Amino acid sequence: MLFARNYKTLRRKMVRNQVEARGIHNPKVLAVMRKVERHLFVKPQYLNVAYQDGALPIDCDQTISQPYIVALMTDLLELTPTSRVLEIGTGCGYQAAVLAELVGDVYSVEIIPGLVESAKARLEALNYRNIHLKLEDGYYGWEEHAPYDAVLVAAAPTDVPECLIQQLKPGGRLVIPVGGSEQNLLLIRKGLQTDEDSIHSLETTEIIPVRFVPMTGGLN
Ligand code: SAH
Repeated sequence: MLFARNYKTLRRKMVRNQVEARGIHNPKVLAVMRKVERHLFVKPQYLNVAYQDGALPIDCDQTISQPYIVALMTDLLELTPTSRVLEIGTGCGYQAAVLAELVGDVYSVEIIPGLVESAKARLEALNYRNIHLKLEDGYYGWEEHAPYDAVLVAAAPTDVPECLIQQLKPGGRLVIPVGGSEQNLLLIRKGLQTDEDSIHSLETTEIIPVRFVPMTGGLN
């Protein structure tokens, strides 16, 4: 167990060496990565490696994502203080906390009951009032609060779920890992214009190869 000031130093180093060094310069994203205390989201036995450059195991065979990947996905969403964001795969709630620092409301869906309960308790203890959690198969999104300015998916389906595209606002952005043993992080932007069939255009950009836990439920 380290002192709070030591964790703060480790966070600054994490941001410099893992995030800025890999080309992320958005000051808001860097500030939030320095602020959110990742060590409060990991299991006690991983406290001393909470700011290292990788994913870590959490309960139920799931993981907390690598800090760089959290920063990258957050950056790609081009969030504003009024954005409404949907996250699929709450896990421990770290990414949700990072998003909640930057936007109006975060809606996060998790399929494993125990993880929803522990994330809820943790995020409440940290006083995040703009994070809304739901136990559900996130393959189908969270229709009730749609449309979203941005959707972030933290588990990999084999194909992009149609519901997530539907629940995106025109001009909105979806960041999603897609694939099986080999996955790619995709950025999908929904066009502002509709054509005669009122189908929105989609602009897809491959960002980098990634390795996320598989999305369960849905058609997988
Ligand atoms: N966002 C997390 C990463 C979570 S790991 C972080 O902050 O580090 C991915 C999570 O997606 C796991 O908790 C897993 O249970 C969940 N998941 C997998 N398939 C899902 C589905 N269909 N719907 C919702 N959550 C799902």
